[in-house]
Parts: sequence; C-alpha cells; structure tokens
Amino acid sequence: MFSLLRMWYISPAMSKASVMVLGSGTSHGVPMIGCRCAVCTSEDLRNQRARPCMLLELPEGNVLIDTPPELRLQCIRFGVERVDAVLYTHAHADHLFGLDDIRRFNELQGREMPIYAEREVLQTIRRAFAYAFMPTQAAGGKPQLSLYPLDGQIDLCGARIEPLRVYHGELPILAFRVGGFAYVTDVSAIPPETEERLQGLEWLFLDAVRYEPHPTHYCMEQAMEVVRRLKPRRAAFVHLSHDYDHEATNARLPEGMELAYDGMRVTFSL
Ligand SMILES: [Zn+2]
Ligand SMILES: [Zn+2]
Ligand SMILES: [Zn+2]
Repeated sequence: MFSLLRMWYISPAMSKASVMVLGSGTSHGVPMIGCRCAVCTSEDLRNQRARPCMLLELPEGNVLIDTPPELRLQCIRFGVERVDAVLYTHAHADHLFGLDDIRRFNELQGREMPIYAEREVLQTIRRAFAYAFMPTQAAGGKPQLSLYPLDGQIDLCGARIEPLRVYHGELPILAFRVGGFAYVTDVSAIPPETEERLQGLEWLFLDAVRYEPHPTHYCMEQAMEVVRRLKPRRAAFVHLSHDYDHEATNARLPEGMELAYDGMRVTFSL
C-alpha cells in the first residue's frame, strides 16, 4: 500500500514537458541586414534565425521566455496560439521589443498577461512601454500586463521554474531551469552556485554566439567547455550569429552537442 501511494505521489513529478525554440539567433538575427555571406543567403531554413525566444509547453499551459522583435512572426510560423505567462532573462532590445504582440494573447484569452522578471527589468519595461501603463481612452491598442518581481523559484502552469543567476559581461541576468531543461542565454560567466544547479540536465540550451571570443557572450569554444564540465545528456547552442552554417557545423560538433534552430522542439522530464 505504501509503495502504491508513493508511486501515485511521485508520478506527477515524472511527467514530461517540452520546449520549442522560437528564436535561435543573435541580436542582429540571421540573415543580417546587408550581409551576403553564404549563411545569410542560404536556402536552408535552419540558417534563418530569429531573435532569442523559447516557448515552454508545460502541463497546464505555455510560458514564453522573452519577447523578441519577431514574436508575432514566430508565433504565426510555429502555430503558437496560447501564452499563459512570460518570463524575462534581461531587458536588452533583442529579448524585449516584441512585448506589444502580447496584445493578441490578451484578446484570445480574455485576461491580462502575467509578466515575471527581476525588478530592474520590470522598471525597464515600464519605461520602454510607458504607454501600456498610462490611463488613456478605452481601446484595444495596448498590451494588458501584470508585472510580478521574480526573486526565487515559482510554480507556473504545473511546473516549478527556477531562476538562476548568470553574468552577461558585467550585467547580472537570469537563466532558467525547469526539470531536466535549462536555458542559459546571453552569458559570459556562470557562478559556481549556478553551476551546481545545472547538474543532471537532459537538455542544456546555451549561448555560443560566434567562434571569436566576445566580451558579453560565450564563444563556441567556451560554450563547449561549459558543456563538457556540466555534462548534460544533450546540449544545443543558441543566440547564434551568421558564423554557423547549420549542417556543416553540426557535422563537426561532438556527440551530444548541436546547434539549435527555429522550430526545434525537445521534451524533458519535470
Ligand atoms: Zn541577446
Ligand atoms: Zn552573413
Ligand atoms: Zn543581451
């Protein structure tokens, strides 16, 4: 009897969730404006990278990580029709400036969108989208947002979400872990206490912006070193520039490591 009860209590924790990459690109996106390199002119759709965004498909709803400028286009391209909450890693333009597209989810779902971010990020949102917080005539023209400071783990849509501190140059920003999945973008340093929380992953999605070293992002060599240290079952690189042709790069990457691409979807345990 005891073991049956135990199984019953354990089983929800063993449920599966998935995540879809809505944007695998760096801040310029790929193709870049005015670039005629082989990757920017490639026919391979996996070389077309929107600005950074992930969609967590959790047991009780969908959680978006960041709202990049291509949010509308990517939701249409990949059939995203519901978003129940938004999390932010940080407030740089490539992660934030599609926030107004949340209006459509306000209409579809008939409610305000809960937004979770660190206090400084919420301040930037209030400043950059000031019109959304000003009383004006009633109309459908503004996103309806409820802002919640994020200063510890939270339960959203049937999953526990753990924000983790990482550094983007000198800027402290957030990575997220959910069950066997972690998303660590815009990172150039991971403190030891966060590395401890990144053990035993099924999927690590990690910044590897380009081949050359970068002041505020891991380059490919540094990202591969982090993967070797953390030993996730699989790793996928994100925030990718036009340095990488998808197929040629993947053919050279070690077993268990690959480039992410827009529309990539993986499952993980909660
Ligand atoms: Zn970025
Ligand atoms: Zn290019
Ligand atoms: Zn950034």
